[in-house]
Amino acid sequence: MYGGDEIQITPGMQHYIDKNNAYLAKRSRYIRDVVKKWKFDTIAVHGLYSVEDAIEDYQGAIIEPVFMSSSQAYRDSDEMACALGYLIPTWCYSRIANPSTYYYEWTLALLEGYGFDGETSACSTSSGMAAIAAAINPFLVHREHHTVEPRNFVATAQCYGGTFQLFNVRMMQERDIECRWVEDPTNLDEWASKIDKNTRFLYGELPSNPGMGFFDIQAVADLAHSHDIPLICDNTVATPALLRPICHGADIVVQSATKTLTSSGFGLCGALIARNDLISNIDNDFMKKDFALYTKYLPNRDSGPNLHPMQAIMTLNDMRTLRGKMDQMSRSTMKVAQFLQGHPQVEEVNYLGLPDHPLHELSSKYMWLVDAESDEQYGKPVNRYGHLMSFCVKGGAVAAREMFDGLQRIWRATDLGRIKSVATIPAISTHQQQGEAGRKLAHIPPNLVRLCVGAEHPDDIIADLDQALGAVKTATSVPAGAGA
Ligand SMILES: *Cc1c(COP(=O)(O)O)cnc(C)c1O
Repeated sequence: MYGGDEIQITPGMQHYIDKNNAYLAKRSRYIRDVVKKWKFDTIAVHGLYSVEDAIEDYQGAIIEPVFMSSSQAYRDSDEMACALGYLIPTWCYSRIANPSTYYYEWTLALLEGYGFDGETSACSTSSGMAAIAAAINPFLVHREHHTVEPRNFVATAQCYGGTFQLFNVRMMQERDIECRWVEDPTNLDEWASKIDKNTRFLYGELPSNPGMGFFDIQAVADLAHSHDIPLICDNTVATPALLRPICHGADIVVQSATKTLTSSGFGLCGALIARNDLISNIDNDFMKKDFALYTKYLPNRDSGPNLHPMQAIMTLNDMRTLRGKMDQMSRSTMKVAQFLQGHPQVEEVNYLGLPDHPLHELSSKYMWLVDAESDEQYGKPVNRYGHLMSFCVKGGAVAAREMFDGLQRIWRATDLGRIKSVATIPAISTHQQQGEAGRKLAHIPPNLVRLCVGAEHPDDIIADLDQALGAVKTATSVPAGAGA
C-alpha cells in the first residue's frame, strides 16, 4: 500500500494556513450569527453568497458566477502544497470542488438543516443516483484489511426504481452486499427484526416515488442509533420546503436535485446533505465528523461523480423560489387528487393529503409548509403534501394506457418535479426493470399512473384528466390488474 506521508509544513505554508483558518472562523460566525437566523426563503435566495463576497472577489456580480474552469491557479508552491494537502479550503480542480458548486452546496446544506440546531454540510453530485451511491458506499467498506465481512443494510422496498436496481442488482447480485427490504416501513418491528451486527445503515425514501410510502422518521432514526448505525433518507419528493429529515434524527439526506429543486427541468443534478458528527459503526473519524466534506475530498475525488458548475447555478436559481412553488403546486395537487377521487373511472387515488389515505395522519406529523406561521397568508402551521401523487385507472393496464395516451396538456415522460405537469406509467417505465415480483413488493400495479402536478392553473389540469378519462374505451368491469 502506498500513501499516508505526513505533509511537511514550511513557514510559507503556515502563512496560508493561518489566513485560511481566519477565513473559516469568519465563515462559521457568519453562518451562526447571520444566516442561521434568516427565514427559509432568505437562505434560499442568498445562501452564503454575500455582498462582501461579491464585491471583494467577483467584481460585484449580484448572481453567483458560473466558474467554467477546470482548475485553480496558486500564488506559489506553498499555497499549492497546502491546497492539495487539504490544509486550506480551496477548490483545486473541478473534480474535487468548484466555487459555483460551493454556493449550491451551502444553500442546500442550510435548507435541509433549517431548524436543526447542529451543523450540516453538502456534497454536490451529477445526479440523484450518484448521490445515493456516494451516500451508501463509505458504510460498506470492509473494516479490516484482507478480511471479507458479511455486510447488509435495511431499506424501504417502496423506493425509486433506480434505487431498487442499485440495491438489488449492483449491491446484492454483483457485490454480495445484502439489502434487506422492509415491506411495511410503518412497522418498527419489521425494521428491528432485519438489523444485526453486520448492518451498516438504514435507508428510507419518503414520501416514496410513486407509491407515497411513509414512515415515522424519528422512531426509525432512534432505532438506527440504538444499533450505532445511521439513517439515510431520500427527501427528493418532499424537498426541504416541506420536510427536513435531519431535524427528525436522520443522519444523511439524498436529493435528486434533478427533480423539484430544478423544477425548470434544465438538466441533472444531485446532492447528499449530512449532519456533522453522525453515527456509524465504521471506525473513520473524518467520515463521521463531516460526512459531506469527507465524501467530496476523498471518495468522490477518486470516483468522480461531480457536478458541472453551470448546472449548479441553474439548480441554485430554481431553488430560490422553492417554498412558494411547493405551496402552490401542493395546493393544486390536492385539488386534482380530490377531483380524481370522485371520478367514476378512477379506482384508487394515492395522495398523502387526502384525509382517508392510510398514511395521512403519520405524514401530517412531518409534512409542513416551512415558515407558514410567519407567512401573512397563513399565520399558522399548515400541512402540505407535495406535488407527486398516483392513481389507478379502472379497467386495468389497458385502460390506464388509453387514459394516458389521451392526455393533451400533461406531458407523457419519465420525469417528475417539473413546473409543467408530467405523468408516467411506472410499470412500463421507471419501475419496468425490477420485474413483476419486484413491483409487487413495491406495491406498483400495472394500472398505476404517476402524476406530478406543475404550476399550471389546476382547473386546466383537471380538464385534461377529465377528457382523457372520458376517452377510455375499455369496459370498466374488468377487474383491477387483470389487464394485459
Ligand atoms: C429520480 C429519483 C432519483 C434518481 O435521481 P437522478 O437525478 O435521476 O439520478 C432518486 N430518488 C428519487 C425519489 C427520484 O425520484
